[in-house]
This record gives sequence, structure tokens and C-alpha cells, in this order.
Amino acid sequence: MSTQHSTPNTQHAKRNVLVTGGAGYIGSHACQALKAAGYTPVVFDNLTTGHRKAVQFGPLVEGDIRDGAALKAAIEQYQPIAVMHFAALIAVGESVEKPADYYHVNTLGAWQILNAIRETSVGGHLIPFVFSSTAAVYGIPASSPISEDFPHQPINPYGQSKLMVEHMLLDYAHAYGLRSIALRYFNAAGASLDNSIGLENRNPTHLIPVALEALLGTRPELQIFGSDYPTPDGTAVRDYIHVADLATAHVAALEHLLKADNSTPAHMALNLGTGQGLSVDEITASIERVTGKVVPASKHPRRAGDPPALVANSTKAQTVLNWKPEHSDVETIVRTAYAWRQTLS
Ligand code: UDP
Repeated sequence: MSTQHSTPNTQHAKRNVLVTGGAGYIGSHACQALKAAGYTPVVFDNLTTGHRKAVQFGPLVEGDIRDGAALKAAIEQYQPIAVMHFAALIAVGESVEKPADYYHVNTLGAWQILNAIRETSVGGHLIPFVFSSTAAVYGIPASSPISEDFPHQPINPYGQSKLMVEHMLLDYAHAYGLRSIALRYFNAAGASLDNSIGLENRNPTHLIPVALEALLGTRPELQIFGSDYPTPDGTAVRDYIHVADLATAHVAALEHLLKADNSTPAHMALNLGTGQGLSVDEITASIERVTGKVVPASKHPRRAGDPPALVANSTKAQTVLNWKPEHSDVETIVRTAYAWRQTLS
């Protein structure tokens, strides 16, 4: 047989991207965006919180990011041109109770992936790395909007576990030439525009899914945590960004890294938000407007560790990636989240 004919794996290898956590909420949307941009997302996920049915855009490798041998085998089999790393534990409150789990999965898991990238590198070339980071690295900022150079002072192990990975990426850039971008998300929200994927979590804690459950009667009410904040209506302000916009930012980051030359910084962190803040009351009012239904709600004390306002300055991401949010108006966020919620039993 002629060696000019590649095997199916190598034939597609130029477009394969390994996506850890690709069966989860943001990871699955990134896979959808990768597919739309002509890549093949190869999902690496242990399905503890991810869902098999969310893997619709490429193959699934069932594996745990703490398993270095499994990671290396996946890279050797699929020869990805880059890694997008989403797999993580993400519950802030739980991270305070179980910090060992968070450092094990989030920090050591990332180390294992980077190690697998190093050990499978060819000719010293490390494939680039897009990292799912978080606004939690800023802790309680002195003001908003927040730019990337604000102090990094996480107030919980979740934020610490992610920030430690950012530090690793910076050190690996200097020592090994690893090219990476850390994307610091503000409040991810909404579901895919075609209603094919969304948040699968049956016990959500985030504002919009909780409010939708209250509206649909699957929980008694929305508890509004804090109405005495120094904000216009007294409720806390956040920067909600549609998950489809997060997804396209990941593809833009990937492409930025793939075409990087020596003038491009080997590591950078970028905020992903809209720059527009919305209060809890404004979100609730939008949900009522879009659905035509009432959100039963009651007022409660502030939740521990919640800052009054978290709004991104994301001009750096917009400039560097030539990206901007397209679907993050509150109507689209609520409409897609509501449509998706109605598909869950
Ligand atoms: N929030 C609320 N009730 C809830 C969940 C959230 O009042 O059941 C508030 C929360 O205090 C914060 C905002 O909604 O001010 C967004 O919270 P979420 O948990 O969605 O995201 P976070 O900003 O904490 O990452």
C-alpha cells in the first residue's frame, strides 16, 4: 500500500483539537464552535459531571485528566494540533469544604495535561494550550470594570486552583516555549442557539437556572442573596456572557496561538465578559419579560464572599482576538436558557 495514503487518524490530525471536559457545559459549546470552524474536537472527559449526549461534534475518549498515561495515549492516537482544557471542579462553596479535591483535579490535572503535551512533543514543539480560567482569580476587586492587571487575590480554593495553573503556564512559556492563553470568564449563561446543548446540571446554584426552576415550579422560589449592596437597586451586579460567545472566543484564541510568531507573547490572560453589568433584580425582570411568567422570589442576606459588582473590561480580548460578544444581550441569554431548561425533564 502506498504510504501517501494516510490512515483516517492522521488524515484528520491537522484539524483535531483535544478538548478536556468537552462533555460539560462550556466545553460542549466550544466543541460546537470548533466543529463549525472546521476542526474536529476530540473530547477527553470522565463523564462525572459531563454528559455523553453533549458529545455531538467529534469522538469521545473516556478518561480522567489525573491519568497521565491516558492523556498521552489520547494525544498519540489523535495527534491534536492544540488542547483546550475545560475539565475541572467548579463549585466555589464545595472548594472551601474540599480543597484537596480542587487542587488535585484542577491544578494537578492541568499539570498532567501539560506533562503529556511535553512528553508527546515532536522536535521540541509543544502544541498550544487554551485554558479555561475564571474571574474568581480577582477575588473581591477594589472596583469594576476589572482589567487583567488587577491584583490576583482569589478568596477561595477554586480561584486559587485556577490561578496556580496560570502561573504554571507562564513558567512553562519561559522554560519550554509553551504557547497558551488563559481565558478568564465572568458569568457564563444561556444555551446553544439551536437548543442542542445547554447546562445539564440538575441541581444548579447559578442565578439564571435557579430563577428558571423557581418560575417553572421545580423549586419553591428564588432566594435573592443581598439587597443592600451599594448598587443602583441594592442587588449584586454581574457581567453575564452567552456561552456561545465564550465558545467563539476559544476558537479565536486557538487560531491566535496557531498563527503565533515570535513577536506574540507566549502566554497571556484575557477577560471574557461584555463590559455590561446587570443586577439580580434586572435579570429577574428580564426573565419575567421574556417568559411572561413570574419568578417567585424572596430577599435574603448576602451570600458569603459575594462582591457587590464584577464587570469585565474585556477590551484586551476584543483587540487581541478580534472577537466580540454577539449573543450576550440579556434577551438571547434568557430565551436560550429557558428553551433549553424546558427540554430537561
Ligand atoms: N444569586 C442569588 N440567588 C441565587 C443564586 C445567585 O441571588 O440563588 C446572586 C448571587 O448572589 C450573585 C449573582 O446572583 O450576586 C450571580 O450569582 P451566580 O451564582 O450565578 O454566579 P457568581 O457571580 O456567584 O459566580
